[in-house]
Order: sequence, then C-alpha cells, then structure tokens
Amino acid sequence: MQKLNNNIILTKNADETKDFAADFAKNLNGGDVLCLYGNLGSGKTTFVQGLAKGLGIKRRIFSPTFIIARSYKIDDGYFYHTDLYRTQTKQDLLELGIDEIVKDNKNIVCIEWAEKMGDMLPEKRIELYFKYIDEDKREITIKYI
Ligand code: ADP
Ligand code: MG
Repeated sequence: MQKLNNNIILTKNADETKDFAADFAKNLNGGDVLCLYGNLGSGKTTFVQGLAKGLGIKRRIFSPTFIIARSYKIDDGYFYHTDLYRTQTKQDLLELGIDEIVKDNKNIVCIEWAEKMGDMLPEKRIELYFKYIDEDKREITIKYI
C-alpha cells in the first residue's frame, strides 16, 4: 500500500485493500456511515470484506447486490453492508429501512452505490472513492464530510 497524500492511497492487490480496510475499521465507532463510490469491480466489496474482518466479524462477507442489505452483529449494534446498485426509487430505500439504519448510532454502515441515497445521505459521513488503475491497482480517496 502506498500513501499518495493525506487522503489518497494506492493498493497494488486485493489483499492490500483488505488490510488497509481492516486497519481503517479500528478507528470506526457506532454511528459511522461509510459511503462507497466507484464502478463495478473497483474494489468496494473487497474493502468491506477487510473492514468486517477488522471489526472482528468472522462470517464471510458476500456481495449483497441481490439481497441489497446484510447485517452482522457487533458490540451492541450491527454492522450493515448494503449495495444500492439495484434500487430504483426512494420507496425502495424506505422499504429497506436504510433511513432508520443510518440513524442508529450503535450501527456501523457501509453503503455501496451511496449516490442512490440522494437526499437521504446523513450529514456526517465518510466518503470513499474507488478508482480502477489497472488489473491489480486501485486508488482510494477518503473524505470526511
Ligand atoms: P465492487 O464491489 O466495487 O464492484 P469488488 O470488490 O467486488 O468490486 O471487485 C473487485 C475485484 O478486483 C475483485 O475481483 C478483486 O480481487 C480485484 N482486485 C484486484 N486488485 C484489487 C485491489 N488493489 N483492490 C481491490 N480489489 C482488487
Ligand atoms: Mg460490490
């Protein structure tokens, strides 16, 4: 892993992304919402797999694309992994209960395709932008909003 500057890192394979995410998880607290942006294959789910490991979750993390949301018990709340790629309308999001999920300050929430949240995005969030550089390299930009 290479740090390009304060908020941009470059990983040279999937394991480096997972290791970076596992480290990143150590600084997370209940109520944190992570918004993940980037094309298919840019490494969002891979990052979440590492993050879950860093949170002490032993279960394997599958991409929630077809199920949209999965939850895993942590401390007194839950770790939520959602993928909004297939959601179409605000109604889809409300049915998912994403507004309640992000409001609960016991939860840690990762949202793939967070741009689908529109005005439902929480004011305070961590944004992570994933960029495909080549087959094994990804650039990750982190912004605290
Ligand atoms: P997304 O969720 O953004 O669609 P995935 O994490 O599901 O992306 O897929 C990323 C793919 O790219 C995986 O097959 C992973 O093994 C591969 N890959 C190769 N290099 C990297 C890297 N540096 N970081 C993350 N994934 C990588
Ligand atoms: Mg994904």
